[in-house]
Amino acid sequence: MASQWQNELADAVSDPAELLRLLELDTSLLEPARAASREFPLRVPRSFVARMRKRDPFDPLLRQVLPLGTELEPQPGFIHDAVGDMPSRAAPGVLHKYHGRVLLIATGACAVNCRYCFRRHFPYAEESARTAGWQPALQYIRSDAGISEVILSGGDPLSLSDRILADLVSRLQEIPQLRTLRIHTRQPIVLPARVDAELLSWLRNCRLRKVVVVHVNHAHELNAEVIEALAKLHGAGATLFNQSVLLRGVNDSAEVLAELSQQLFTARVIPYYLHMLDRVRGAAHFDVPDSQAREIVRGLRARLPGYLVPRLVREVPGAPAKMPVTAF
Ligand SMILES: *Cc1c(COP(=O)(O)O)cnc(C)c1O
Ligand code: SF4
Repeated sequence: MASQWQNELADAVSDPAELLRLLELDTSLLEPARAASREFPLRVPRSFVARMRKRDPFDPLLRQVLPLGTELEPQPGFIHDAVGDMPSRAAPGVLHKYHGRVLLIATGACAVNCRYCFRRHFPYAEESARTAGWQPALQYIRSDAGISEVILSGGDPLSLSDRILADLVSRLQEIPQLRTLRIHTRQPIVLPARVDAELLSWLRNCRLRKVVVVHVNHAHELNAEVIEALAKLHGAGATLFNQSVLLRGVNDSAEVLAELSQQLFTARVIPYYLHMLDRVRGAAHFDVPDSQAREIVRGLRARLPGYLVPRLVREVPGAPAKMPVTAF
C-alpha cells in the first residue's frame, strides 16, 4: 500500500493550466509555460503550491517552479553541462570530487522540478547507483579507507522508498571507515509528509553520524508543517543544514536572506551554503552577477551573527572544494 507521501507525490501539479487556475493567475502565462514545460516538465507538490500567494506572478515560490518562455531563448555562457561532473565519476552513480567524502547519486527523481537546476538537462536516470545495483558503488567506497562520509544525493534520495533506503543504509553502516551519512534533500521542504514514521525509524537506527542538508530559498517555504518535519529529523539525531541558490527574483536581497537565516535557525537549521547559479541553459533569467552577490553577503554580515551567514560559493570544475566567492 502506498504511503501518504507517495500519494501526494503522485498527485503533484504537472499541468501548467492547473497551476495557473489554483493560483488565479492570468491565462496569458499559459502558452509560454506549456512551451517551456516541453523541455523540462512542470512538477510541484500541492503542499508547496499552497504556500504561494494567489494572483501574484512574482511570488518567490512560484518563480522557482513556473516554466517561462524566456527559458527557451539561448543565452551566451549558459550551456548544457554546466557542472562538469563526469570527470569525477568513480563508479556507477558515485562522484568522488573532494577529499574524504563521496556523493552517491541514489536516484534521478525529485518531488519538484526547480527551473534553475542543472538536472533540467541531466535527469541522471541511467546514471544512478541504484540502477547499477548499489554493489559497484558500495565496493568503491569500501575499497578507499580515506572515505569517511557518504552523501546521498540525486535527484532527491528521499524519492526512494523507505524499504530501499533502509537496506542501503544498513549496507553502508557495515563499511568500517564510514563515520557520517549525509542526505541532500528538498523533500522535507516541498513534501513534508515525506518525514513519516518509516523514514524516522531507519534514520534513528543508523549508527553513523547523521547530517541532513535541506534546500530552502525563501522564508515563505517554511510553514508549520515543514517546521514540524524538521523537528522530527532533528529528534531522530540528524544535524540540519541548509543550502540555497542565489536567484534573481526569488531571494536576491539581504533582507530576504536575513529573514530566511533567522527562520531557519528557529527551525534548528544552520545556513550552510549560498550557491551561485549553475550556468545551465534555460536558467539565465535567475542569474545574479558576482558583484551584486558580494554586496548581498556584505548586507547579511551587517545584519546577522556570523553563524547565520551562509558561505557564498560556486562550483569550479577541478577545484578541491566549493569555491568561495569572497565578500569584503
Ligand atoms: C558539493 C559536493 C560535495 C559536498 O561538499 P561539502 O563542501 O562537503 O558540502 C561532495 N561531493 C560532490 C561531488 C559535490 O558536488
Ligand atoms: S535536485 Fe534539488 S534543485 Fe534540482 S530539481 Fe531536484 S530538488 Fe530541485
